[in-house]
This record gives sequence, C-alpha cells and structure tokens, in this order.
Amino acid sequence: MDLLGDQAVLDSNALKGKTALICGASRGIGAATARIMAKAGANVIIASRSEGQLKSLLEELHALGNGQHRTLVMDLEETDSIEHTLQPILDDGPIHILVNNAGGPPGGPLLNATVDELAQPFTRHLHAAHTLVKLLTPGMIRANYGRIIQIISTSVREPIPNLGVSNTLRGAMASWAKSLSRELHPSITINNVLPGFTDTERLGSLAQSIHERTGQSIEAIHNGWMSQVPIERLIDPLETASVIAFLASPAAGAIRGVSLPVDGGRLRGI
Ligand code: NAD
Repeated sequence: MDLLGDQAVLDSNALKGKTALICGASRGIGAATARIMAKAGANVIIASRSEGQLKSLLEELHALGNGQHRTLVMDLEETDSIEHTLQPILDDGPIHILVNNAGGPPGGPLLNATVDELAQPFTRHLHAAHTLVKLLTPGMIRANYGRIIQIISTSVREPIPNLGVSNTLRGAMASWAKSLSRELHPSITINNVLPGFTDTERLGSLAQSIHERTGQSIEAIHNGWMSQVPIERLIDPLETASVIAFLASPAAGAIRGVSLPVDGGRLRGI
C-alpha cells in the first residue's frame, strides 16, 4: 500500500493552510501522522522531547509537502512550561489541528502500581492534553476551525490484561474528550483514535517485556496477538495516521465525540 502516494486518503491540498501540532511525533503513530498530514498540504509542527530525533523527520516532511514545517522541543510531563514553549508559535497564528499523543505507560498488573506510577502517565497524557486544549482553542475559535484528536487505545472499550495503568488512563482520556465534545465551540471537533496492534517501537518493547516476564518467545507472543485480529497482520502506522488525518480534515466536521478503533477488527463488541 502506498499511503503516501497513489493510495493517499486525502488530496495533496486537503489540509492546505491548516497548521497541525503533533505531539509524540519523533516515531511511531505520531511520526506517521506528521508524514500523512505533510503530504495533505498542512503546515506541520512536530513535537517531542529532543530535537535530535525530529531533525531527519523534518527533512522528510519538507520533501513530502509544501507546507511550512518545524520542530518543537516540548516535554509533556512539564505541563507548567507548555504555555511558555508554545507562545512564540501562537503569536505567529492559530494552530488548527492538535494531535494529543505520547508514549504509553509501562505494562503490569494495576495493583502493583504505586500512586506515582499512576500520576506520571496522567500528567503526560491527560494534564498535557488539557493544558494544550485550553491554550489552542481560542485561536481555533478565531480561525473558525479546530480539530483535536487523541491517540489512545482500544482498552477504552475492553481493558487489556496487564496494562492496568494504561487501561485506567485511557478511560479517563475518553471521558475527558467526550465531556469536551459537548462544550467546545461548534467549529471544533474532538475525537479519539483507538489503535490496535500497530507496527511501532512501542509494540516491540511491549513484546520484549512480556518475553522477559514470562519466557514466551517473541514469535509466540506475536502469533498470540495475531490470533486475536481478523486481518491477521500488524497495522501499518500510516493506516492509523490516514484515519487521524481524515478526522483532521474539513470533510470530518460532523464527526464529534467518537472513539474510533483502528484495530484490524480485534474488538468484539458491537
Ligand atoms: P511510541 O512509544 O512509538 O511513540 C510515542 C511518542 O511519544 C514518541 O515520539 C516519544 O518520544 C513521545 N513521548 C513519550 N514521552 C513523551 C513526553 N513526556 N513528552 C513528549 N513526547 C513524549 O508509541 P506508538 O506506538 O506510536 O503509540 C502512540 C500511542 O498509542 C501511545 O500512547 C501508545 O501507548 C498507544 N497505542 C499504541 C499501540 C501500538 O500497537 N503501537 C496500541 C494501542 C495503543
């Protein structure tokens, strides 16, 4: 599949004139979203904790689309400094599209987690997303266009064994987003994308930690995952990113407050 070429879901002008802030953009689904949105003509701001990893992605974005792309070093766990970090960008004009995304919490049973181990991911995901929404929505209202998308997890619908902290956090994020969907200005949508088993470093490190804990081979872990997925393969991050970019586009203006699985059919609920 050539999702950055012939099979791109959006036309190369679909996001022209729109500025997108993509958090957790240095790799995985965040980086794929940056690529797809650059291809669709957006001005893309790729944010993560260190400049180094963002540099080569920035070059790729310049080759993919004609928007004005830039990097932003921003640690989502330092919520107090987010406003100061973003202010120079906001002074230049509105950010129309916000993708709330960051690394998932470590695995393990919920009862083993300390209160601090619960607090840290809540800061990185929920508190950071709340801070960003409060900062960005005035500009979205002035521009009469806003799209806010959270990358969370299918555990919103079915908690996943041994991902207790993640399950708790994702439920909170989904509820936060649904509450906002009833409050935000009519020109702003907010939605969640729920990835299934997606071919990123996060999934690789999850397999490694299960291997270390249980002694199961990586191949057996992978096969076990695939047996749950009707499409019988990992999801390409560009597939997830294509859905995120669609939700960010003008065409998706009537979709508001949904949690959309991109999971290859793994969830069994209707
Ligand atoms: P990933 O771990 O590959 O990428 C996470 C990104 O967030 C990286 O760019 C990382 O640098 C950044 N990040 C981490 N901590 C940060 C911080 N404090 N401040 C700023 N940036 C930070 O993850 P992914 O596989 O692309 O997944 C994206 C999200 O979707 C994660 O929350 C993940 O848990 C969730 N998810 C992934 C899968 C999957 O199969 N990959 C499945 C379900 C849910």
